[in-house]
Amino acid sequence: MPIFKDTETGETFRVHVCYQCDIDRYPTGKPIDATDKLAEPLPDGSGWVCGDCKVEELNKRKLRVLGPQHPDVQAFITREEREVRRWNQYARRVNKTMNAGLPYKTNRYTGRTPF
Ligand SMILES: [Zn+2]
Repeated sequence: MPIFKDTETGETFRVHVCYQCDIDRYPTGKPIDATDKLAEPLPDGSGWVCGDCKVEELNKRKLRVLGPQHPDVQAFITREEREVRRWNQYARRVNKTMNAGLPYKTNRYTGRTPF
């Protein structure tokens, strides 16, 4: 478990890290926020998983079981699509104007990259 240092108080503290998060965004794992109430230890004791990853896993299971046309499934696919599109439009704009080289995101449930 990595130790983090508070740059203002100089205090050190330990946080759990999720290694199931998007490796491009969190190459060394994502520190799990203390307010993440859904985060929990993995059953095999090898680490922790954050709330986002748990929800994603649950949603992927729903997609498999219920199929893409089910209203519950449509709801989270559409939400993901909207968030990913918003990011991609932003990224394309700053990439064009400032050559920022921001990576584009894909919808985790459909594999598509919406703009
Ligand atoms: Zn995660």
